[in-house]
Amino acid sequence: MIEVKILREDFPILQREINGYPLVYLDNAATTQKPNSVIDAMNDYYSNSNANVHRAVHTLAGEATEGYESCRRALKSRFNANKAIITSGTTEAINLVAHAWGRANLSDGDAIILTEMEHHSDIVPWQMLAQEMNIELRYVPVQKDLTLDMELFEAAIKGAKLVCVVHISNVLGVCNPVEKIVEIAKQNGARVLLDAAQSAPHQEINFEQIGADFMAFSAHKMCGPTGIGALLVNDESFDEMQPFMGGGDMIETVSIHGSTYQKNEQKFEAGTPRIAEAIGWTEAIKWLNSVDIKIEHKRILESARWLSGELRRMGMTVYGRHDDNDAAVVSFLHPTMNSEDLAHLLDARGFAVRTGHHCAQPLLDRLEISGTVRVSLYFYNTHDEVVSFVNYLEEILERFA
Ligand code: PMP
Repeated sequence: MIEVKILREDFPILQREINGYPLVYLDNAATTQKPNSVIDAMNDYYSNSNANVHRAVHTLAGEATEGYESCRRALKSRFNANKAIITSGTTEAINLVAHAWGRANLSDGDAIILTEMEHHSDIVPWQMLAQEMNIELRYVPVQKDLTLDMELFEAAIKGAKLVCVVHISNVLGVCNPVEKIVEIAKQNGARVLLDAAQSAPHQEINFEQIGADFMAFSAHKMCGPTGIGALLVNDESFDEMQPFMGGGDMIETVSIHGSTYQKNEQKFEAGTPRIAEAIGWTEAIKWLNSVDIKIEHKRILESARWLSGELRRMGMTVYGRHDDNDAAVVSFLHPTMNSEDLAHLLDARGFAVRTGHHCAQPLLDRLEISGTVRVSLYFYNTHDEVVSFVNYLEEILERFA
């Protein structure tokens, strides 16, 4: 096990002070910090290898292409997938499924299953498609214990063509039973799209073993750069996808009469791709590969459980259960104190937390709240930071009692 102190040394931003206090970064579900290796690799690319990919024989073009493609190889290897389409993030990856698979394989009257726990990026694209194609959207409810109602899921699956489900909720940290969901979906002939934005950073995911058809996630939530993400696709579903963005790089031939397309992932990557970001992401994956993710996850989950207990003791409502596979995310509300005011006071002492609806308004509607304060931990957070957070929160509450 690497000591957290050593692990933290890789992240230059953790040396920062905010208002004279050490930064305590507790907003990792929004985005994670970047290790030196990621920052250096991207700088090195722009300083020494900058060129466009795939289209020239010169040395720099070769290095850029190798850098870009090494990201794809790293993704396939870490997540055990045959096809990795590089996108701008989870949002684009889900929109890609809607446009490239949905439009080509769904028809008027078909049903898609979503859950009330989805992030907006796994709701809005389907609502847009439903307007265009007269598709029925069926939402699996979230129960009082913050789990999905699996009985209603089984009832809703009949006749559905696609199930879109978030692996780990960005608000609750709850990990959904995706293996069970995939099993039921497959028995009923439905495809499964997994939103793994929050699980890819926290779990070792074997895409093939889970058996989902699509998996979307973002680099920036796993120590990689912003502006890049991926869609993993199994072979069967890949063959059913039609490109929706045309342009350079995705074609084999173009004439004034028509075009033929690439056979591989590039078919869905029209235009100059995110080369520096791909190079940075490769380093982030290497960094994650060097961490014992199971041990580190257990450690931060223990801190999250402790934090939940302390918050409840202070009279807060905590929205989470913190089972073994759940994320180290703690959403909470003070009975009377405004969340934004609380977040401002916390920021004054260097604690970075998030407030608001976390792009999951249907879930908050179900919980009958309009937002939460969210603390989300990652592997470079220490238990001492969580303790200092609790101590300062107590100080605030005493001051405003
Ligand atoms: N799904 C979930 C569960 C998320 O937490 C997020 C990011 N908050 C997204 C999708 C969207 O990710 P991105 O903004 O990187 O596309």
